[in-house]
Order: sequence, then structure tokens, then C-alpha cells
Amino acid sequence: MKAVPKDKLPALLEELSKEGALYVPSQAGDMSRFVPWKSDVKLDLEHNTTMSPKELLFPQTEVIYNYKFGEENTVEPPSPGSDKIILFGVRPCDVQAIRCLDEVFLTRTYVDSYYQEKRDRLIIISLGCTAAEDTCFCKDMGVNPVEAEGADIVIFDLDGEYGFEEKTDKGKEIAIKIASQLKETKKNKPGAPSFSLQVNSEGIVEKLQKMFDHPIWEEVSQKCICCGTCTFLCPSCHCFDINSKNIDATKGFKYRTWDACVFDDYALMAGGHDVRPSKVERIRNRYLHKLQFFQERYGMFLCTGCGRCLRECPVGMNIAAFINRLEEVTVDG
Ligand code: SF4
Ligand code: SF4
Repeated sequence: MKAVPKDKLPALLEELSKEGALYVPSQAGDMSRFVPWKSDVKLDLEHNTTMSPKELLFPQTEVIYNYKFGEENTVEPPSPGSDKIILFGVRPCDVQAIRCLDEVFLTRTYVDSYYQEKRDRLIIISLGCTAAEDTCFCKDMGVNPVEAEGADIVIFDLDGEYGFEEKTDKGKEIAIKIASQLKETKKNKPGAPSFSLQVNSEGIVEKLQKMFDHPIWEEVSQKCICCGTCTFLCPSCHCFDINSKNIDATKGFKYRTWDACVFDDYALMAGGHDVRPSKVERIRNRYLHKLQFFQERYGMFLCTGCGRCLRECPVGMNIAAFINRLEEVTVDG
């Protein structure tokens, strides 16, 4: 395997930044997120970011088209980007979340062109995990915490250096550009980290299929304040709302913004009908989407075990504890 000494990583990143828009994990104000690489950026490869990398593929606010009224009415989508988007240091749970977003935005006859044009330009360089935080449970949600299936390159912390392994043609192409920075190493890949948090996700789809009317939802949803923090931080949540903004009488734009299924007006439709008016129904929907519906449709969980919602929920809602709680639930049939 090829590797770069840790103290030479900034030089490698500088080289990489010549190939496209390079984003790296860093502290930004009171939270961490992927930020554009600059030589004075303080890299944080020790912890996963507070904000997930989904905001680069599916921004919190995104213009869909600009419109003009006049002798001729026009509708113009924003110009597509041309640079490669290189994400460096993405954790395997977040790579898995991008795979979930790919299913939603790119498959089953519907292709979201706004997502697609960014996804086509994306190169994922994932950092295999050597240590799990006490809120991590990716391994039990079907994610390989070391190999990061779906990444173009996986890098490994080899104690003093970072090993590089190309996984796709895109990865090989970009690795050629930084080849002069990499030297052969005799060190082996690290093993899987140990997890202090274990969840048992086996058989939960079948169990949840019988639990739609179970009293557990009343109890589980009780303390949620429907703030939406969990959905905004979640790397795989992808609901959005569409609005218009008139700049003046002749022009304006249509845009989409993140939405959250826990918000009380989320399922409110024209005419005033709300299909999920109660908090219990909304929390049940969130958990079932993560743990049952997405599995049924795409064969994977929509929760990748990144642990962000456990860490940041202001009232301590905990989807991992919920999964483990299911072991105690008995259902008929
Ligand atoms: S972060 Fe916690 S309180 Fe806020 S909506 Fe999510 S579960 Fe509810
Ligand atoms: S539901 Fe929570 S633990 Fe699961 S992927 Fe989303 S933020 Fe991470």
C-alpha cells in the first residue's frame, strides 16, 4: 500500500486542491463541518463532523430556477458547476449515507438533476475508522467502519502515516495526480475498532412491520420537542420543501430548503388536511422510515449509525436505545 507521512499531508492536500474544489473536516465556529481546503485550515481527522457532508450534495437552500416576466416569460435553472468536488476524510457511515441519498435521488425512474450534477463531479476519499466514539453504532447498521464501501479512495491511519487504497476508476485517476507524494509502506491496514455502543438490528424490520399501532410510539415520542435538530444533522435525511421568492414584479426564483418530518406542519396539505397531525405519528414515521420502510424499498437502513442525533438531541432521544428496546417488545404472530 502507498502512504504519506502525517506531516506531509498538507502538501498532499495542496496538490489535491489543484484537481477540484477540495473539502476537509474542520472546526467552523461552534461546530465542525466540511470546509474548503486552505493551507491555514485546521484539519480535524480525529472526530466525525457535527454537520454531515450531505450539505455539499444537497444544500440546505438551493435555487431550482430563476424566472422573469415580460414580453417573454423565462425560466432558467442555475448553471451547473464544472469543478470536481473532492471530499477528503469522509467517515464510512457518511459514505453509506451518500449511498442512501443516491438511491433516493438517482434511482427508480426519478432522477433529481440538481443532486445528479453534483454527484457526478464528486470524488469521495474516506477515512477508515480506527476508533469509535461512544455514540457510534455503524457496524450494527450494516456499515463496514474500515473499508467504506462506495468510496473512491479509502485512507487508513497507520500510526505516523496515512495509507491510501484506490477503490474505483475515479479514485485511481485522482491517485495518479498525487502519486509523487505517496511512498510504499510495509504497514498493514488497521483492524475494525471496538464499539462501546452495540445495537441489535437483526429482525427489526419484520418486528416493526407488526408494530404500527403499538403503544411504544406514545412513550418513545413523549419527550421530543420537534426541533428538527436530528433531521438536519442526519447524513441521510433528505426531505425538502419548495418555495418562491419574488425579487420584484418582473423576476424571482424558486428554491428548495431542507424540511423535517418531525415539524408539525410537515404533512399539512393544501385544503388543510394533515396526514400526521400528532407528534406520535411523526416520530413513528421518522423511526419507521429509518428502520423499516427504507429497508423494504432499497434493502438498507436509512440510519447509518453515525450517532449525531444521539449526541445533539436537546432532550436525549436515542434511536440506538430504541432499537435495543425492541428486543423487549413482543408482537403477535
Ligand atoms: S433532535 Fe430530539 S427533540 Fe429535536 S426533533 Fe429530533 S428527536 Fe425531537
Ligand atoms: S438517524 Fe441518527 S444515528 Fe442514524 S444516521 Fe441519522 S443522525 Fe446518524
